[in-house]
Amino acid sequence: MKYISCKIGGVTIGHGHPIAVQSMCDTDTLDIDASVAQCVALQKAGCQIIRLTTQGLRQVEALGQIKSRLRAMGIATPLVADIHFSADAALAAARVADKVRINPGNFSRDHAVAMEKFAQLLQVCRECGTAIRIGLNHGSLGERITSTWGDTPLGMVRAVMEWLQVCIDHDFYNLTLSLKSSNTKVMADAYRLLHKTMADELGMVFPLHVGVTEAGAGDTGRIKSAVGIGTLLREGIGDTIRVSLTENPVNEIPVAAMLRDLAGQKPVDGGSSFALSAATREEFLVKASYMIGPDLLDGRLDDFSLKATVAGRELSQAEVASFKDDLMQACRRRFTKPEYIACPGCGRTLYNIQSLLQQVMEATSEFAGVKIAVMGCIVNGPGEMADADFGYVGEGGGRVTLYKGKTPVMRGIPQEEGVEKLVKLIKDNI
Ligand code: SF4
Repeated sequence: MKYISCKIGGVTIGHGHPIAVQSMCDTDTLDIDASVAQCVALQKAGCQIIRLTTQGLRQVEALGQIKSRLRAMGIATPLVADIHFSADAALAAARVADKVRINPGNFSRDHAVAMEKFAQLLQVCRECGTAIRIGLNHGSLGERITSTWGDTPLGMVRAVMEWLQVCIDHDFYNLTLSLKSSNTKVMADAYRLLHKTMADELGMVFPLHVGVTEAGAGDTGRIKSAVGIGTLLREGIGDTIRVSLTENPVNEIPVAAMLRDLAGQKPVDGGSSFALSAATREEFLVKASYMIGPDLLDGRLDDFSLKATVAGRELSQAEVASFKDDLMQACRRRFTKPEYIACPGCGRTLYNIQSLLQQVMEATSEFAGVKIAVMGCIVNGPGEMADADFGYVGEGGGRVTLYKGKTPVMRGIPQEEGVEKLVKLIKDNI
């Protein structure tokens, strides 16, 4: 088996290299001062690769200035340009960034045109020594793929394998791949299948960027991320990780670092009884989810008992029961609360998503089992909210659109009326 590594600026990932922790700025990339400040904060927190929204040529230019400012400060952290649709932006960013993140299928509705643009990008990346991440998310596959393979882990794998073959045909190997989903089971199965398919069909394994997308915030965001990422890390899958929280991105770094440090560890075999101690509540959430979650997710475990000590205090039965509810839900075994699918926010976010998510959570706590998406932008949000039952999506200009499933049912709603109307929409439809 051949293991490929990927060089992103001064950081190399892939077989034999340490797992790298990464995150993404939620600043407007055009706000250079704010973006530099957030990159500095992320780097100080231990972030090894930083991604910024780069939706157009102006943002590419700003990214260049951010990079120059950071390098002048002695900060060499690799910067990644996050491209969603524009091939022109990707081509320009490839000359500036250390890596570009793309879904080549988004370059054009015409597959042949998308292929041609992608081949051009490979050429520029080769000339400039720029790495590429091909990132396909569950819920955003094109009809060409879903009509044959469905919107499934298999569909995700077949889609990314097509683009991977183009890279191999062009002799381009400086690559990493991701197949994210907010559904921990879909995400874990997709990465496992991709890992196996690369080995079986290519005899080569490319580095994987692993994450649970739209995991939300607070305890549930941490638990969901630890279950999805932890399941793979326990099996030796994952070369760089991003924990996506709808919070200040700096908060993602200690969670990701804990997961990195746990990678490969297996729980002591105690059947369904677990005991652990942690210095902080966050460490407890991450460790317990990593140790117990994978077996729940895969159906090897149906129930468990837990004794836990946090900062020297044993958790009460009620505290353990509350954690258990969250973990069962993150593992998709028992739904006792609403399921929130919330994007972390980025330079495209069109409102304060962190406070809005808290408002939505408070107003909708009674709707157990209902999947509610809170997404920052109308360009990518609807495609990425996957199988949500209802969605709240920022339109810009203080307006939002509400969705029932994938259908927009109320557009142009003033933001201050959005939460109330969302609650009514849910009540009227469940
Ligand atoms: S959905 Fe959220 S994270 Fe994704 S591009 Fe839009 S604002 Fe950024």
